[in-house]
Amino acid sequence: MIFCRFSRDGDPSFGVVEDHAVAAIAPDPFQAYETVSDPVPLSEVRLLAPVLPSKIVAVGLNYRDHAGEMGMEVPTEPVLFLKPPSSVIGPEEPIRLPKLSRRVEFEGELAVVIKKKARNLAPAEAMDAVLGFTCFNDVTARDLQKKDGQWSRAKGFDTFAPIGPWIVADLGGGPLAIETFLNGERRQRGSTADLIFNVPELVSRVSHVMTLEPGDVISTGTPSGVGPLSPGDLVDVKIEGIGTLRNPVESGA
Ligand code: MG
Repeated sequence: MIFCRFSRDGDPSFGVVEDHAVAAIAPDPFQAYETVSDPVPLSEVRLLAPVLPSKIVAVGLNYRDHAGEMGMEVPTEPVLFLKPPSSVIGPEEPIRLPKLSRRVEFEGELAVVIKKKARNLAPAEAMDAVLGFTCFNDVTARDLQKKDGQWSRAKGFDTFAPIGPWIVADLGGGPLAIETFLNGERRQRGSTADLIFNVPELVSRVSHVMTLEPGDVISTGTPSGVGPLSPGDLVDVKIEGIGTLRNPVESGA
């Protein structure tokens, strides 16, 4: 099952995607829903960010090779930080480079979308609280991340959380290839098999800190190969079994 949010004539709606077409559903994929429209071709709709999360919990340094390229130790517990809901954008929406930073970088990541309110989950219970998976770009002002010592500013600018194109439920538990392309050239290539803390472990650990709400997003960290963005760039995060999240890059001026 593939869930999305889309607009056709301006009104956003949740939908189910099948055979290159989307049918509207109501009220939403986090509870029992009904199909409320005939399918229309995907080419006739605009895909929006597939969820409007109350919070985005991101995980730092969850691939050994990325910890290495950042000159950081591999953590013994997941390093958690938050990105604000105001940073969310959908597919094809521009990432705007803020004037306050001289180096903004892409980080392609697998993101988990939470289905139901959850806290204190054991790893074995965690997947029952997951709706599905999507692509995420943990856009980061690298200079500010280094300068500030904590990451709220570096990770929190408007447009720094591209997410989509949709949520794939029932992906299975196997490893997924994750790649990021800059202007069509591959810059990151990893596998979720190399996550230091896997998805059930992460969902469990986050749920022991904060109550998870339907639509909340946990992004699982980036493999090596992160690099800078410039105005006019096109950045694609592609994950096996999900699809491609594409965003152009613009000057924030
Ligand atoms: Mg990241």
